Amino acid sequence: MSRPEVTSATVSSRPQGGSTAAETGLSLADSALDRLMPMHMVVGPDGHILRAARTLQKLFPRRDLVGENLFRLFEIRRPRGARSVFDLLQAEGGRLSLTLSQANASQRNLKAVIVSLGEREGALLNLSFGFSLVDAVRFYDLTAADFAVTDLAVEMLYLVEAKSAALNESKKLNLRLQGAKIAAEEQAFTDTLTGLKNRRALDHVLARLVRDRIAFGLLHLDIDYFKQVNDTHGHAAGDEVLQIVARCLVRETRRNDIVARVGGDEFTVVFLGLVDTSLLMEISSRIIRRLEEPIQRGGDRLRISGSIGVTTSERAPYRSIEALLAAADDALYASKRAGRGCATLAPAQPDGGAKTDSVTP
Ligand code: GH3
Ligand code: MG
Repeated sequence: MSRPEVTSATVSSRPQGGSTAAETGLSLADSALDRLMPMHMVVGPDGHILRAARTLQKLFPRRDLVGENLFRLFEIRRPRGARSVFDLLQAEGGRLSLTLSQANASQRNLKAVIVSLGEREGALLNLSFGFSLVDAVRFYDLTAADFAVTDLAVEMLYLVEAKSAALNESKKLNLRLQGAKIAAEEQAFTDTLTGLKNRRALDHVLARLVRDRIAFGLLHLDIDYFKQVNDTHGHAAGDEVLQIVARCLVRETRRNDIVARVGGDEFTVVFLGLVDTSLLMEISSRIIRRLEEPIQRGGDRLRISGSIGVTTSERAPYRSIEALLAAADDALYASKRAGRGCATLAPAQPDGGAKTDSVTP
């Protein structure tokens, strides 16, 4: 295909609606046109491309645009049905909407403004990416040099980049905060000495069980003669004993039962779904037997025992979790009064004043 020789375009400018103003004739060199409009093209009256600026040419890396037909490279979306340069020039305000025939959806839409270069000279189209700018820059590997110095596209790209960097940072920060929150919550629900759940965690667990109407058994334990351990062997020995008791309770219960240290030498175990009171009393006796096994610490032999109160979610129409815990506590103190080292089942009717039965292992 022969290439028409075009080295410059003559652009006529006329102030809008200025019937009184004189027309200014401008003749610009190609290099000046390129600088002003790096995505322009000049088409002849028949639609053949006479000149394509450098950035526009980048969209077609494997073909020379000069000599190609505008209507084969682009689908004209607006003005609808335009088939000739003449049709394009009829567009209101010279605004065009084009689609690159061979490109992905994200970078194919272009907009353009068209001005006539005279009846026999054809037209000049200045194209831009519009909304597809961000994808197009990445896809065609464009840089700031591919845009006119006055084009806001570059600033917009910086803003988009800054926004995505800020979003990434905020995502990372959110993840860190989330991690810190989980760790803080974990800490707030954990007893640091034994690693068991603490009182607050137990309250949450019980509230959830009551809300979801899940049946459970509950065992409340207080170590017997614990002060003596502290007084005779020191606070560190006392701490070790608390840890040994914690391990013992975990060992003697099932994996999904909840073991918590709820006070100085007080522990609570919640048995999920277990309301068989004779089984709960058996487990209590076994725990007491384990606690009574002497603890060898250096040259010392430490001895403790435990008093236990037992109840279940079905034992009585407890009005509240507090009432249920108070019933378990009363049963525990009944065990203390009965001589320690034993378990007591809370009465079935807390308001009815039923007698408590203590069981010694
Ligand atoms: P009882 O048989 O009636 O239960 O008496 P006790 O000697 O076990 O003493 P009591 O339960 O009344 O008091 C518990 C003691 O536990 C009081 C406190 O000095 C001690 N204590 C509380 N928290 C800790 C702790 O974290 N470490 C140690 N070593 N001792 C603690
Ligand atoms: Mg005690």
